[in-house]
Formats: sequence, C-alpha cells, structure tokens
Amino acid sequence: MSGDPRTVLHDVFGFPDFRGRQAEIVEHVTAGGSGLVLMPTGGGKSLCYQVPALCRPGLGVVVSPLIALMEDQVVALRQQGVAAAALHSGLDEEERRRVSLDLSNGRLKLLYVSPERLALEGTAERLARRDLSLFAVDEAHCISAWGHNFRPEYRALTMLAERFPEVPRVALTATADARTVDDIRERLSLTDAPVFRGSFDRPNIRIEVAPRDNPTAQIAAFMEEADDGRGAGIIYCPSRAETERTAARLKREGYDALHYHAGMEPADRRAAERRFSSGDPVVMAATIAFGMGIDRPDVRWVAHLALPGGPESWYQEIGRAGRDGAPARALLLYGAEDIAVARRRIGESPAAETQKRLDHERLDRLVAIVESATCRRRLLLRCFGDDLSEDCGNCDACLRPPRLVDATEAARKLLSAVHRTGGRFGLGHVVDVLRGNRTEKVGSFGHDSLSVFGIGRDVAEGAWRNIARHLLAHGALAMASETNLPIYQATEAARPILKGNQPVLLQESALREAARASRRQRGERRAAPAFSAAAGSETFEALRAWRKEEATRQAVPAYVIFPDRTLEEIAARRPGSIDALASVHGVGASKLERYGQDVLRVLREAS
Ligand code: ADP
Ligand code: ZN
Repeated sequence: MSGDPRTVLHDVFGFPDFRGRQAEIVEHVTAGGSGLVLMPTGGGKSLCYQVPALCRPGLGVVVSPLIALMEDQVVALRQQGVAAAALHSGLDEEERRRVSLDLSNGRLKLLYVSPERLALEGTAERLARRDLSLFAVDEAHCISAWGHNFRPEYRALTMLAERFPEVPRVALTATADARTVDDIRERLSLTDAPVFRGSFDRPNIRIEVAPRDNPTAQIAAFMEEADDGRGAGIIYCPSRAETERTAARLKREGYDALHYHAGMEPADRRAAERRFSSGDPVVMAATIAFGMGIDRPDVRWVAHLALPGGPESWYQEIGRAGRDGAPARALLLYGAEDIAVARRRIGESPAAETQKRLDHERLDRLVAIVESATCRRRLLLRCFGDDLSEDCGNCDACLRPPRLVDATEAARKLLSAVHRTGGRFGLGHVVDVLRGNRTEKVGSFGHDSLSVFGIGRDVAEGAWRNIARHLLAHGALAMASETNLPIYQATEAARPILKGNQPVLLQESALREAARASRRQRGERRAAPAFSAAAGSETFEALRAWRKEEATRQAVPAYVIFPDRTLEEIAARRPGSIDALASVHGVGASKLERYGQDVLRVLREAS
C-alpha cells in the first residue's frame, strides 16, 4: 500500500480532503522531510504522520507516551486495514512474540512504541535492520522540562538523529509556548527543519467562564443545555475525592456517571477508560489524569470545577470536546480561593526563580482570561500565537457582553474591613462583619464594635465573594503567606483604591445574587442541536444499534467502527449500493469491505 497522499486519504481513511495545514505537512514528510507540527488537540495531527508512513516504503515508528493511546490508535488503524501494532510493557509474552514476528516479516506499516522500549538497545538494533519510513514523536512536549508534562524517558529520543540520520523525524504537540518549542527542536535536532503551526482555533467549542457560586446547580444547568443526551461529557475536578463525590451525586440524579483518578487500581482505570470510549452517553468526573489518549470524537462538553493549571492545559483539556467538529461546550467555574491558592503554591514551591516567574506569568494570563469582560477566545488564542481578527461570537463574553458597573465603593468597604480586622481572617468572617452578622466569632473578637460592622448589608454574600475575587485577581488582595489558611490581606495595590484614585469596574452580574444569576443563565436559549436532522431518526438509531453490537463483538470502541458523523450521513443519504456508500465521509476501502453489506442490510430493514 503506497502511493499518493490524497489517494491514501480517500481510500484508507475515507476523507475527501486534508484539513488546514495537513496537506502541506504530509507532502513535506512524504518527500522525506523532518519537521515540528503544532496543532491543537483534535486538530488532526495523527494523519500528518500516518498518511506519509503509508505513502513511503518501509515501517513508520510512532513514539507515544501512553499505552492506552497506542492501543486506541492501533485498533482504529486495523479497522482501516492498516498493518499496525504496538510494543510496550503492557503486552503479554504471546502478544510480544506476535508483534516481534510481524516486525521481522516486514509486514507492519506502523509500529507504536513507548519511549522506554525504543531506548532499549535491542529495539533500536532491530529497527536499524529494517527499512524505516519515518519516526513520529507524538506529544513531543514531554521531552521538555518547560512543557507542562515533562517525561524524563523522552530524553532518550535525542539519539534518533544520530542513530537514524536518514530517517525523517516528525514531532507533534499541542503545546506551543516558545520556550517548549525551542527545546523540542533542539533535543530532536530539528533546528533546521520547518515548524508547521496550524491554527489553534477550535471555533465549534463554545467557551464559558463563571464564578463558582453553586457548582451543583451550575453544572446541572450546563449539562442540560450542552448535552443532547447522547454524547459524553467530562467534569474536571480539583481532587481525587471530588471526582468520587461528583460521580456519586450525579448517579443519584440518574446520570450514567463514572469517576477517574490516578489513585485508582490500574484495572479499574482501564475499565473506566473502556466504558468511556464505548460510545455510550456517560459523564466522567475526573482529575487531569484522565484525557491524554482519549480519542472519543463525540465528547459534547467539558466542565472544570476549579481553575486549571494554565491557559495551555485548560485549552488542551477543553479540546477533548467536539473533535468531530459538531458544536460542543466548555464551562469553567472558579473562585477567589483558586487564584490565591495557585499563587501561593507557586510562591512556596522549591522551583528555581526563573521557573517561578514563568509559572506566575502563566497564572496571570489565565486570570486575565477568566476575568475578562471581552472575547475570551481572543485572549486564549493569543497564548498560542494566534491572533483572531475579530471577536469569536461563541464565548460568554461575546454572547452576553457584560455590563460593567462601578464597584469602587464596595471594594473600599471590603478592603477596609480586611484592614480593620487585622488581616488575620478568612473571607467568611470579613463578610460577616460587613453584613453585620453577629456570629460567635464576631462577638468574641469584638468586631461588632468596628466602624465597618454592618456597612455592607445591602450587598449579598455571593457578591462580596465576587468583589474579593476581582481584587485578588488584580493583586489588591493577597493571601497571607505564613499560614495555610485562606486569610486575605490588603497589598500596596489596594492603596490607590482606598484613596479613591482608582475605580474598580465589575461585571454587573457579579454584584447580583448568585441564585438570580444562574436562573438567568438557565432561561437562555438552548444551544443549537449538535447534530443534523438525521440524528435521532429511526434509521440512525438502527445503525447505532448495529454498530454497538459489532463493537461489542470485536471488543473495540464503537467510534472506531464508524463515528456518529458517518452514521448520520448514511442515515440521511441512505445509499443503496456499495459504490454509493463509498462516497460517505469516513468510509474507506477497508471498512467498506468489512461493513458495507451489513450497513446496506440495516438500511433495507429500517425502511
Ligand atoms: P489530534 O491528534 O491532533 O488531537 P486527531 O488526529 O485525533 O487529532 O484527529 C481528530 C479528529 O479529526 C479525528 O476524529 C480524525 O479522524 C479527524 N480528522 C483528522 N483529519 C481529518 C480530515 N482531513 N478530514 C476529516 N476528519 C479528519
Ligand atoms: Zn468571544
């Protein structure tokens, strides 16, 4: 199987056209060139090495950091009729022998391998005896300590250039910060090779950010809007315990919910991953341990219960939604304490000063995005070097432009209350003082006799928290450094506000009561349906039922047989012959041969 890229794209993958810069990259690599590919998650990186590997003679070797990731790719490729295999520590003796045999026979076109295994002298020696079409280094940022996912075992890959100088090297990543990019190029000897930077925009993902006031209600409203009941969703939680609590709560509410974190038994983790990729409409409550290697294309939404690690990780995490290109949604909930905790954690980390500066910078960029009153996507994409020429029209700031109101007076009251109580208390107590609540603590410290006692009765507690968050984000409040408690203190930056020299502008909604804000959100028009009219039709459901049976029989994820998008097109067009079926998006030669007759039969029976 070799030849022209477009023919391979069509015959093997069933796609009519390359996307974005794929064509250019594929041509370059097929001609024997090396390079670095920067594209967002879901941007279509895999084809950039899979197509060249099929067009060139010899074996393509793909380095990948996770067993699950390799296995999924191999299963999908085999469905497409490509001789692919994976070599990693998870194989049993029998499987390893089989891969080994295929390798010596020269039958394989693509071999996925973990970096550890590739580093073994035996592996490199065996590969050196083969005719190699290319090396692809997936998740290439793992080679750099600047990246957000450093893996020391990737360092062994520096040997590729010396040991196999004539074999093209393609590095691929969704991380694009300049320092990481330079580091990858240096370590993989790609400094003379081109960098292909695809657009990082994923316009089908609607981005929303909201202060976290009542996360249970907020997530429920979001799920109701974002999901048509068939796709899957992911809720990223800040702790392992929170994943279990969230999943349990959702189950009580009747959702098919799972949890996932790195503290689970490997077998349970695999079971949860398999369940998620089965194609069923499930909700996954997970830590960030979940995601790399999850290729499910119809994830409809991703929610975060707390501030993510930075703009890059946030974008990577929400990028798991809507890979199929259909409308998808992302919601980020965050609170003042998230920012404060993140800042303190960086401050107290044993990292070098330069590293800390970068971490602070990363956090600042994220805070600017979540606190922004203007298009969030523009700010976010700027972190990846993309400049949108206009506002996106598909983020909450674009869809519901916030009205700004002058909250200077309230901000001054809050800063005074922090100051008068000695900068020794958490926000709850400060708010009690402002709202004139005679709690035990207020009494025992005599704070009911302070001049600030009760001067903020007119502002709801939730609104006070929003004002505090804003002041924290802008550095006028900081978390006390010497304790582990969320105690706030006023900083130098509070002075001009207290003096009345600097206004504090807040989104109007932030000053309203939490309950009202979420009711407003819920009352809004529902998202456009994620799928075309064919979705939900009897024919479509019949095809889905057939697919599910087939997937179970073969023990593979449903979407590797056909993604929803393909089934929809089949249901809508109802092709009556194999030839007509061949022109449907996502139907390549191998799948046509395997499933063509079955699909036609299902169509006949469903009519
Ligand atoms: P990445 O590795 O960059 O996260 P993938 O390679 O997994 O992204 O591709 C994301 C999705 O887009 C997959 O479902 C893939 O089949 C699809 N895709 C990629 N390129 C094309 C194309 N040219 N035409 C149609 N679908 C494509
Ligand atoms: Zn926007």
